[in-house]
Amino acid sequence: MSQSPQLTLEQIARLTGGELLCGDADLVISEIGTDSRAPFAQNSLFVALDGEHFDGHRFITEASEKGAAAALVSHGDPLAYPDVALIRVDDTLEALQRLAASWRGLFDVPVVGITGSNGKTIVKDMLASILAQEQTVFRSPGSYNSQIGVPLSLLGIRPEHDIAVIEAGISRIGEMERLEPMIRPTLGIITNIGLAHAAGLNDLATTAREKLELFANLDDRPLIYPAESKPLGRYKLPGTPVSFAIAPGKDAPGDEKTDADYLVERVAQTSQGFAFSVQFPDGAHHPFALNVPGRHNLANAAAAIAAADTLGVSVEAIREGLAAFELSPLRLEMHTTQEGVTFINDAYSSDPVSARAALSVLEHYAGQQRAIAILGDMLDLGARSTAAHRQLGQVVAHTGIDRLICYGERAQTIGKAAQTAGMTADHIDCVDSIDTLHDLLERELRSGDVVLFKASRTMGLERAAERLLESVAPARLYIDLNAIRDNYHAIRRHVGDGTGLIAVVKSFGYGNDSTRVSQTLAREGVDALAVAYADEGIPLRKRGLTLPILVTNALASEADKLVKYDLTPLVYSRGVVDALRTQARRFSKRVHVHLEVDTGMNRVGLKPDETLSFARELAAIDEIVIEGLMTHFAAADDPDEDAFTRQQIDTFKTVLDQLHAEGIHPNVVHAANTAGAWRFPDAHFDRVRVGLGLYGLSPTPAVSRETDGTHAALAFTTRIIHLKDVAAGETVGYNRTWTAEQPRTIATIAAGYNDGFPRFMSNGGEVLIGGRRCPVVGNVCMDVSMVDVTDVPNAKVGDEVVIFGHQGSEAITVDEIAGRGGTISYELLCNISPRVRRIFVRQ
Ligand SMILES: *Cc1c(COP(=O)(O)O)cnc(C)c1O
Repeated sequence: MSQSPQLTLEQIARLTGGELLCGDADLVISEIGTDSRAPFAQNSLFVALDGEHFDGHRFITEASEKGAAAALVSHGDPLAYPDVALIRVDDTLEALQRLAASWRGLFDVPVVGITGSNGKTIVKDMLASILAQEQTVFRSPGSYNSQIGVPLSLLGIRPEHDIAVIEAGISRIGEMERLEPMIRPTLGIITNIGLAHAAGLNDLATTAREKLELFANLDDRPLIYPAESKPLGRYKLPGTPVSFAIAPGKDAPGDEKTDADYLVERVAQTSQGFAFSVQFPDGAHHPFALNVPGRHNLANAAAAIAAADTLGVSVEAIREGLAAFELSPLRLEMHTTQEGVTFINDAYSSDPVSARAALSVLEHYAGQQRAIAILGDMLDLGARSTAAHRQLGQVVAHTGIDRLICYGERAQTIGKAAQTAGMTADHIDCVDSIDTLHDLLERELRSGDVVLFKASRTMGLERAAERLLESVAPARLYIDLNAIRDNYHAIRRHVGDGTGLIAVVKSFGYGNDSTRVSQTLAREGVDALAVAYADEGIPLRKRGLTLPILVTNALASEADKLVKYDLTPLVYSRGVVDALRTQARRFSKRVHVHLEVDTGMNRVGLKPDETLSFARELAAIDEIVIEGLMTHFAAADDPDEDAFTRQQIDTFKTVLDQLHAEGIHPNVVHAANTAGAWRFPDAHFDRVRVGLGLYGLSPTPAVSRETDGTHAALAFTTRIIHLKDVAAGETVGYNRTWTAEQPRTIATIAAGYNDGFPRFMSNGGEVLIGGRRCPVVGNVCMDVSMVDVTDVPNAKVGDEVVIFGHQGSEAITVDEIAGRGGTISYELLCNISPRVRRIFVRQ
């Protein structure tokens, strides 16, 4: 396109059939939005939509305060808004749609239209990930697929885009007829036909018919569809149909042969998702990997592959784009503030099933602490709406939720039902605005509370959550609890059924917050936890964890805590034993201990030849039970030291035999850390003690080959807070250690050595921005660092910076950073400062 299309107020008035009441006709509008609560870009236009429950015209002033320069309105007194340019139309939604249709018409690029009952957003994101390998892609943001979302999506198309991928959803008959002329797809995808959100669509046949309306003018262009869909089978499909399907597995009943243009075959599960091959229309078979779980995603991948191939994308690019696809990472976020309040943020979508799941996470996590549920309206439920809200209220009343706050009109039904079902009225509040909610929370919240936010995205509750979450610095440590769970199971599989697992969560779970990790593993069936000091074990008890908790450094002066909180000390000295005995009498308890044998580490523990006599003494003490025997390896991670490790194992076995011969039988025998667990089957005994491996990290490269089935659970990110250009010859940072040889663009990022971004990253360490590696220039400062972003197109303030973790197809590992600094991953993790917000993620 030779000239960038643009929208002036005058053009908008003309395209919408409206009248410019006041304002500069030549003002070029940069963006268009309908949400008065969101910040507006400079020179943007606010569309005052009238909904069932709100009148957008009431928010024109708010939008103008947030930066909107103009508003599209259907009524009201222009004099009331002196700072806003106004265009008047008859119907603002219709005007928005007409505008979007005209805008779309200015772009002569392929537009993929995606509809279907489930999986639209995932197929859209998969296809965009594939197309982005070779082209500049526009895609609908999030799941913008409604009568409002589609026009807003379309208005985001810009001249630099080579292709657009647009999602369309409907909940009533006739809606697609309005979306079709806006989108005018040049390629269609229909994911499937099911009953999701079908309240207004009666039955499957009607659903299919209505969805197909999107492709009414496809002519002979391709329509990708699921070969096996019965409801679609009733219709003659528009366009040139191209089908996809999953071949039935070996053990599928019957010998029915599936036929489809793109057929998924030979599916194998991998640690992250699936490996499979697809038979293309030319008969060739191509292998692919999909790194997300869930079998239903195979069909979604098949649809995306079929569309990409039909669009002429190379098989290689399809493979890479699909492998790079990830589910949007933030489904359920948890974060504990400095004040000790924990927020569980799941305010992105809500339906009866996910709301119940979120409530059970809340209940589970809160344990003995106060559990507060903030529940917003569940939208798109049609006729089932009232019943669904009522049932949710009953669920709240019957779970251990202490406090219920309902936000929104339909959510009031939740509150009433909870009360009817027995919840005390004092414990229920209904609020109708985010500000009221804020005031309430500010008054009420206290340390230890656990708060769940759950609502449909359009309720705006996620912004309330963000307002409470966005405190202190932008640096974040993301901890993927599902990855930790997967890693736990991978290690379990490796050590086999006979061996249990002790999760080592000392040093606040290697810098990650031991409680969250411990609770996750407790649910998965971990046998015990281990911490370094008594004070690390107590919060775990207070959180309601009843598992055995080993304390590796048990001090005599802390014997009272050890006994009071039923912690299990490792013992090797008489002083500690005496103190434990005294406290055991005081509390009238018996204390379970594990004996530590020093087989060569020379750190702590009994010498092998003194262990037996020590054990004998203990066996004679009533208050003390020898529950376990353990040792620790000095170099299980180092193949050059394997002879020494074997010697440690032999020594340990000898001591164990001696105890047995004496009639002392410790129930729980353990020796191996992560490296030992992976590398020495001989050292598994009754339990392995695993710390680092839970995070998907390997102690050394010698182990990495063996850690199949584990994946990285941690990502450390921050944001760009400033951008500037420096001229050739200028220097950057303290002591002027870096000089620009040519003009460069420098980003200042919010991470310094105080956050745990090590100073050895100065001049040459790398971070990821815009999916690329960017070098640190100059010295790392206490709170910030400077990075050369000259090669990142459109880097801007607020962009995510990945210190370690993935971004696009690039990744930086903790080990890479450790290697650069001549240290180990353990040290880097423990040095991530408390200022960095820990965000727990779970799909
Ligand atoms: C830290 C520690 C572990 C865990 O080591 P990883 O290498 O992180 O698995 C196991 N046992 C003891 C005694 C420890 O101090």
